[in-house]
Amino acid sequence: MTDTNSAVRVRFAPSPTGKLHVGGARTAIYNWAFARAMGGTFVLRIEDTDPTRSTQENTDIILRAMEWLGLDWDEGPNRGGDYGPYYQTQRTDTYQKALDQMIAEGRAYPCFCTKEDLDAKRKIAEATEGGYGGYDRTCRKLTKEEAQARIDAGEPHVWRLAVPEEHGPVEFEDAVYGHMSFPIDVMDDMILKRSDGTFTYNFAVVCDDVNMRMTHIIRGDDHLSNTPRQVLIYEALGADVPLFAHLPMILGADGHKLSKRHGATNVEQYRDEGYLPDALVNYLALLGWSLDGETTIIPPAELGRVFELDRISKKHSIFDVAKLNWMNGVYLREMDQDAWLAAAKPWIARAAALGAEAEGGAVIVPAEDAVADVPLDDDAAEDGAFAEAVAAIERDIDEDGAFYQKIYPLIIERLERLDQIPEKIGYLFWGANVQLDEKSVKKVLLKEGARAEEALRACRDVLAREDISWEAEPLQEACRALCDPMEMKPKLLFQPLRVAVAGNMVSPPLFESIELMDPEDVLARIDATIALVFGEAE
Ligand code: GLU
Repeated sequence: MTDTNSAVRVRFAPSPTGKLHVGGARTAIYNWAFARAMGGTFVLRIEDTDPTRSTQENTDIILRAMEWLGLDWDEGPNRGGDYGPYYQTQRTDTYQKALDQMIAEGRAYPCFCTKEDLDAKRKIAEATEGGYGGYDRTCRKLTKEEAQARIDAGEPHVWRLAVPEEHGPVEFEDAVYGHMSFPIDVMDDMILKRSDGTFTYNFAVVCDDVNMRMTHIIRGDDHLSNTPRQVLIYEALGADVPLFAHLPMILGADGHKLSKRHGATNVEQYRDEGYLPDALVNYLALLGWSLDGETTIIPPAELGRVFELDRISKKHSIFDVAKLNWMNGVYLREMDQDAWLAAAKPWIARAAALGAEAEGGAVIVPAEDAVADVPLDDDAAEDGAFAEAVAAIERDIDEDGAFYQKIYPLIIERLERLDQIPEKIGYLFWGANVQLDEKSVKKVLLKEGARAEEALRACRDVLAREDISWEAEPLQEACRALCDPMEMKPKLLFQPLRVAVAGNMVSPPLFESIELMDPEDVLARIDATIALVFGEAE
């Protein structure tokens, strides 16, 4: 077995048959973190050997998602390295070379059995006691000359591994499962090269892992059943068997394997829903690994110092969106304001562009029509005018972020995802218009005995005064001074104002928001609300 400390080399080897799934991302994170913690090398290898399901588009998405997560690879696509190429489809000659070596050493042999022969034998075996024990090695009994003659005659054939007759159980070390031992009699002489000239998955993976000098193989435990077969190939190649670490599965809250039913499964969906890459890396790292059983906040840079294979759990872990949301909130609050604004920019710009579309003075909107979230998906980008408006505001934010910086203290305390921004602060951009949430109108403005109209008119008069500077504190103080003479509690006085200005009863701090708005617009919203809800009459 390989010595653990010297020159650790690990790889993440996705098949580009789909996007980067959170399970794959976690495998990538562990490989990356282990390489960093050991001062080793992290390799990215694209296993694109399935021509019907692998696409360049998926490869691009995987690379982009890896970059977004910050999982920088030392060797691989777009980076190069001494052990390339890093796409399996470009490595066929290395597989042939390995096979040639095995043939020369009597470790592989050609097999001419047809599919029909094999199916018939399997059927008979399955019907008898003991069942099917794998390929019966018919062609292994051919002499070299017989086999060569049939090859020369152009007879179709595959190449099989010659599992040594005297081989005991197949054994290997797994950092998660410990010492593993599999009986040899369930391993038949597996196919290495198919009759169409392509190489099998198990063979290609081992060739690559040997040629790329991998010291540790960290991958999902769905590969555990491949491992004893692969160990036989390592042995046949005369190569060191690396140390394995098979990772437990990630399950949804219902205990089933995580899938689309449970919500977002691909990494870029998380980006589009306003998660920060560091928070997602931290969260995924803890699905199956822990530092000390307690610490939950471990930023990637730290993970890359403290990660250890022996703290990987055997137990399956449950993907808990609420915990991820909480963690994302922690990371959002940890950011400085400039970094926050840079990350929040796309959503703020969307909120502002949407807000600019508001019109009609005060209108009442049912809850389901309120802006819930504005995904950063392609649909939004398709609307050219909207996309242009967004881009213009983004440029504005880049040029002078001062106004937008002020949004940060309004919402940072309760923000869990960046895509909640439009819903929380969209009202700042409505100009003289206000979209009144139907429920808030009923519960606050039309509440029996609440004196909401009176409260609104009194606050309006205060806000219209030119002797009070347009800042949160003096405005709030002046409004609060109404409480005693009007014999109203602050809540009853301020809630109607909140609804008239922000449209609902749960907006961020009211006077801090008002300070950010144009006085004319605020007064216009109050007037429009009074007119719509209570009618014009005094
Ligand atoms: N390409 C395989 C997959 O995406 C991974 C193979 C491995 O890690 O050994 O599942």
